[in-house]
Amino acid sequence: MRVLVTGGAGFVGSHLCDLMIAKGYTVVCLDDLSTGSRTNIQHLGTSAEFSFIEASVLEMVDIDGRFDGVVHLASPASPFAYLDRPIFTLRTGSEGTRNVLDFAKAKSARFILASSSEIYGEPHLHPQSEEYWGNVNPVGPRSVYDEAKRYAEALTTAYRTSCGADTGILRIFNTYGPRMHSDDGRVVSSFIDQALNCKPLTVFGDGTQTRSLCYVDDLVQGILAMLETEDPGPINLGNPMELTVLQIAELVIELTGSLSPLELHPLPQDDPTRRRPDITRARDRLEWRPQVSVREGIGRTIEWHAEQLRETRRRERAS
Ligand code: NAD
Ligand code: UDP
Repeated sequence: MRVLVTGGAGFVGSHLCDLMIAKGYTVVCLDDLSTGSRTNIQHLGTSAEFSFIEASVLEMVDIDGRFDGVVHLASPASPFAYLDRPIFTLRTGSEGTRNVLDFAKAKSARFILASSSEIYGEPHLHPQSEEYWGNVNPVGPRSVYDEAKRYAEALTTAYRTSCGADTGILRIFNTYGPRMHSDDGRVVSSFIDQALNCKPLTVFGDGTQTRSLCYVDDLVQGILAMLETEDPGPINLGNPMELTVLQIAELVIELTGSLSPLELHPLPQDDPTRRRPDITRARDRLEWRPQVSVREGIGRTIEWHAEQLRETRRRERAS
């Protein structure tokens, strides 16, 4: 299998590249490095099996040769990142997705779209199953991401139904793990970074809103399983273990042994109050279910952040 991974130098993408290389795939990683980094894929080097192209999906480059699959992950993903670049986010989800779909179609490659639980918006149905159409505020600040993903789903479906493209849609729920950077702004990386640096943990709102956290190793197994089927989806991928933000903060405090206090900040507009995937489809169609408990996954992620911190301090001492 030769696969193009757009957004492959990002958090999820780099773990997917690792898994694919370990399974004997040939991987071409394309990324504009807007939120990703070369460091995430440095260990993969450059070889016949792995290559990196620095480019934007907005100006899709020609890549020679046969491709069997395309996994389209390129998109700002953290609220900090997409609120900072609203038009870029909308363009990447719409024009960028169209370019990547055209590429996949021209190569007769299976195309997998990384959509998001955000397409459910502020959900009236709990847990969220794929039949639910969602409740998104189309003019709220998060709409640049949510509506871009909704449009990308519609476009992917149209390429399947009107052009005969082989496509699959995945709706990914909150995923965390090593390589999600401290300044990314998402909840797990922020709390761990704050706890390890003895800073207050910034809880938005009263912390009673919930998220369901999936460890990245589990997620990328699900993405690969989707690539290897012919299923059109949409299929939810996530860990149904639902926690309040306060519980996430307390778990991070416990596992780091930090003395950091919790500090309440205003809740961002349209921040969803509840989030939990119904993963019946993923179980039935992909035989996929998460294996790593939240306690184990957060423990491993803390270890990674702690090592990054030690490395930074070593470099500071050396200079
Ligand atoms: P990330 O920011 O670490 O990775 C996104 C990657 O896409 C980055 O490497 C970035 O440089 C690249 N990128 C962005 N715009 C691009 C463009 N125009 N052209 C080329 N590359 C571009 O985020 P992530 O968490 O790894 O997310 C990966 C994908 O999974 C995204 O599509 C995201 O929407 C989706 N997703 C992630 C989560 C999660 O919890 N991590 C949840 C739902 C959906
Ligand atoms: N959150 C928080 N403090 C932070 C970052 C996030 O309380 O420093 C909250 C945020 O308001 C949301 C939840 O944690 O309710 C998950 O936020 P994240 O940005 O990780 O993902 P998303 O909102 O996209 O689900």
